[in-house]
Amino acid sequence: MADLGQSKPLPDITDLTRPFWTAAKNGKLVLQKCQRCATFNFHPKPWCIECGSRELQWTAAKPSGTVYSYTVSRTVAMNSPAWAAEMPLILCLIDLDDGARLYGQVTGCRAEDIRIGMRVDVHFEDISDEAGIPKFRPALQPATAG
Ligand SMILES: [Zn+2]
Repeated sequence: MADLGQSKPLPDITDLTRPFWTAAKNGKLVLQKCQRCATFNFHPKPWCIECGSRELQWTAAKPSGTVYSYTVSRTVAMNSPAWAAEMPLILCLIDLDDGARLYGQVTGCRAEDIRIGMRVDVHFEDISDEAGIPKFRPALQPATAG
């Protein structure tokens, strides 16, 4: 079937980033964890952002976090009409409970309800035969106040 320009752009998957996309395809959130200082690193890189160690291991991260910041897109993003059906689109920076900050889409939330500090959980969407993408949605159970 011809591509009528209705497909979303796909990530440029490299050997460095492939474990992230493959794990998401399998419904798992994995990030590089430093074996020296235990920092979770994102985006994928050859060395730890905290201590410079190259001993990074792909490790399951807690699939939950908090909205650090957000924007709501009300026009077609990335010049791809495939996004039109999802407008308005909520795009967030998420602070994962394990420490890394991810960029991601929040679904299952009205644009007027998104808030900084909102608790979110990860879910996954297939984007190709080899890759999935983590997305977020409002957490079912708010974190208990400490
Ligand atoms: Zn480190």
